[in-house]
Amino acid sequence: MIRLVDFSLFSSIKIGPICEVLLIDEIMHLDCNTFLIGGANNIIVSNTPPSLAMLSKEFDYIYIKENLLFIGGATKSGRIFSFCKKNNIKGFEYLSKLPGTLGGLIKMNAGMKDDEIFNNLVKIKTSDGYKEKQSISYDYRFTDIDTIIYEAIFHIERGFEDSKLDIFSAMRKNQPSYPSAGSVFKNPLGDYAGRLIEEVGLKGYKKGGASFSKVHANFLVNLEDATSEDALFLIDLAKKRVYEKSGVELENEVIII
Ligand SMILES: Cc1cc2nc3c(=O)[nH]c(=O)nc-3n(C[C@H](O)[C@H](O)[C@H](O)COP(=O)(O)OP(=O)(O)OC[C@H]3O[C@@H](n4cnc5c(N)ncnc54)[C@H](O)[C@@H]3O)c2cc1C
Repeated sequence: MIRLVDFSLFSSIKIGPICEVLLIDEIMHLDCNTFLIGGANNIIVSNTPPSLAMLSKEFDYIYIKENLLFIGGATKSGRIFSFCKKNNIKGFEYLSKLPGTLGGLIKMNAGMKDDEIFNNLVKIKTSDGYKEKQSISYDYRFTDIDTIIYEAIFHIERGFEDSKLDIFSAMRKNQPSYPSAGSVFKNPLGDYAGRLIEEVGLKGYKKGGASFSKVHANFLVNLEDATSEDALFLIDLAKKRVYEKSGVELENEVIII
């Protein structure tokens, strides 16, 4: 089945065209030219995207069996958070403040502070069967997963930590309220992308409707009717200026398709 998705509404940064997206409702192999989207919280969709696919509601589920947590790839972070709070499960508290679907969270190894989605992971389900965590290469906002994550299974540790909610809320206070795709660049080792962008005078710098946020320079925000061209211009400009100034090659965290 095909779903029409307007990325200027669907994506968190509110940029992009209306596209036909293939809805995947059973386990299958995806042709390698098709790009899989989750909740589009870490993506900027250009005017010429490749063919797109997304998991259907068939993969939106969460349950406990034999003291393991089973979560479908299309399940949103908010649902995972609520389930863990209700069932007194710890380790997923940050999902109260981190948008995404389970598939996107795992592919990006998303997290806040020391809490990352890989921490409690046991294995993922792909079209070739289960893949154990040990056989996946992963690091800060990186995994080598190149296949669809249909489901993931996690260890359960009891003891939901209410106190962490305040910490994660506080972290969000210095983040912009305008639409964004989260951090644009990964923090280089031992430094902060936001600091480097600020150092080259780009904090608050605008192009069309897009800008490096005045609140936090590593957030590229859509002030009003930004286009993917505006966003790409700013991304290239920051990379160029930061490299010239400090020799650091900024690496995109946001994915441009
Ligand atoms: C306001 C804001 C704050 C944010 N803060 C943080 C933060 O603190 N920490 C952090 O880590 N991230 C943060 N992000 C980024 C984003 O929330 C995460 O990267 C999240 O994991 C994206 O999930 P998604 O489902 O939206 O994936 P998408 O953005 O749709 O896709 C991201 C990647 O995942 C892949 N993918 C999606 N679903 C699947 C699947 N089922 N199987 C295989 N691959 C899949 C896509 O192909 C793509 O490569 C923030 C974003 C926003 C908008």
